[in-house]
Amino acid sequence: MKVRRRLVQQTSRWFYANFSTDCNESNMSGRKFCVGGNWKMNGDQKSIADICKTLSSAPLDPNTEVVIGCPAIYLMYARNLLPCEVGLAGQNAYKVEKGAFTGEISPAMLKDIGADWVILGHSERRAIFKESDELIAEKAQHALDQGLKVIACIGETLEEREAGKTNEVVARQMCAYAQKIKDWQNVVVAYEPVWAIGTGKTATPDQAQEVHAFLRQWLSDNISKDVSASLRIQYGGSVTAANAKELAKKPDIDGFLVGGASLKPEFVEIINARQ
Ligand code: PEP
Repeated sequence: MKVRRRLVQQTSRWFYANFSTDCNESNMSGRKFCVGGNWKMNGDQKSIADICKTLSSAPLDPNTEVVIGCPAIYLMYARNLLPCEVGLAGQNAYKVEKGAFTGEISPAMLKDIGADWVILGHSERRAIFKESDELIAEKAQHALDQGLKVIACIGETLEEREAGKTNEVVARQMCAYAQKIKDWQNVVVAYEPVWAIGTGKTATPDQAQEVHAFLRQWLSDNISKDVSASLRIQYGGSVTAANAKELAKKPDIDGFLVGGASLKPEFVEIINARQ
């Protein structure tokens, strides 16, 4: 009996020594894998119906949380076509409930039509619409106060990476969020190097893991060990069915935010990357 127990202990030590660094370690993190599709300003009724049909008929990994970021005008339409276990996100929302803000939508409105998430701080909002770290953090705080879950995006430009400033930039962006967000339970951070978004140039699994590990340490040092251990950090930037499995093995990558490939049937393979 003793010999058998010792053998089991030795085998499990050998197993963890040999296999615990990638897939197994991340699966043991307790953080549910979370994959977001960001459709951006794409789609029409026909193509959205097609994507929703694909997502409704495909076997989706029940251990992965799926969220679709849909153009505002099609949110209700998509809600009615998506499987109910798939979450729905606005791609932006303003920092107050209502008022004279022509063209904007509020978290209260998103909730009212059945969306439960909002994507904030996407690099396109930062670069094209000149949204500041502070405004994005205010939006995040208000969305959380209103009961939405938030995908909070961060990421460095190519210029910043080449100047060796990646950690400095993502720390600054996280700092801005941290000045407003008090409860991180309903937040998922999406690390999206700007140079990888829509370019077909994915960060290697090691490059992505390095920044995710830095963010985990930053959270531990600046927020708390609990938040560091439980907060999900997605990787975004040209994720495809071809590279998702390798990225998903990294211990600090807890899912993806996917643009282009979320409009294609291969999105199902990305959702199922951990299987
Ligand atoms: C994104 O828009 O968040 C994104 C990562 O886009 P893509 O997957 O197309 O690079």
